[in-house]
Amino acid sequence: MRMGNNAGELPNLLTSRLFVLLKGKGAATTGAAVLDGVAGYPFPDLPVAVSIGYQLNPVVVREIRCGPTDEYILEYTRVNQELSQISEVCVRYLRDQGYHAVAIDPTLPLVERNHLHAEFPHKTAATRSGIGWIGKCALLVTRTYGSAIRLTTVCTNAPLTTGKPVVHSYCGDCAICVDSCPVKAPSGKNWEPVLHRDQFWDADACFLHCEETQTTSLTSAQVCGVCIAACPYTRRYVQGSS
Ligand code: SF4
Ligand code: SF4
Repeated sequence: MRMGNNAGELPNLLTSRLFVLLKGKGAATTGAAVLDGVAGYPFPDLPVAVSIGYQLNPVVVREIRCGPTDEYILEYTRVNQELSQISEVCVRYLRDQGYHAVAIDPTLPLVERNHLHAEFPHKTAATRSGIGWIGKCALLVTRTYGSAIRLTTVCTNAPLTTGKPVVHSYCGDCAICVDSCPVKAPSGKNWEPVLHRDQFWDADACFLHCEETQTTSLTSAQVCGVCIAACPYTRRYVQGSS
């Protein structure tokens, strides 16, 4: 599967150089995980996933109260574009080092009525690479950015050094997103890797709410943002950035 060039470089050196490169391009957080054997993983020949996170502008997140603002929609779109560009840099770098690499586009949170999940959950790569856990609102939560972060994934056969998977929730007794959600999509149950999302969060209710409250033609994405802004981890990030 390897293709020459610097393919003999030590995994930890390759990984650190890659992550420095990605952070230099604006990535907030990076990690790697082995996803071979994970249900739904689309590239069994590329068993390693590079998870890349990009933070939402705290000034924009701070203004979200009862629903999405136009600024949030624009920021959401901008961050997806940034992630696409960074994932292209990642793919180019890994290919230049002699490996195969394929980028998976940053996903819309809810794609269509009858297909309420992304084809590949970037959140799986993120939790397995140690970037964060899944909150009660089904978003990735990180200690530094809360859930004000969007994700993309690059799949590769490069022997990257992988992170320590996060295997339990750090939400604890917090129920702020449960109480804040206008349609009570989060059940209040804590995420565990063995749980299917439907066992703790109602995607249907969330989607319907986002669809009904969409007030802008700036994007086709259905986004809400209330649970992102309400999370105490996010609030610490946006307040600390003032
Ligand atoms: S995005 Fe909005 S509707 Fe969906 S879970 Fe979060 S607060 Fe509830
Ligand atoms: S608001 Fe609380 S329960 Fe919800 S994701 Fe954040 S920490 Fe977890």
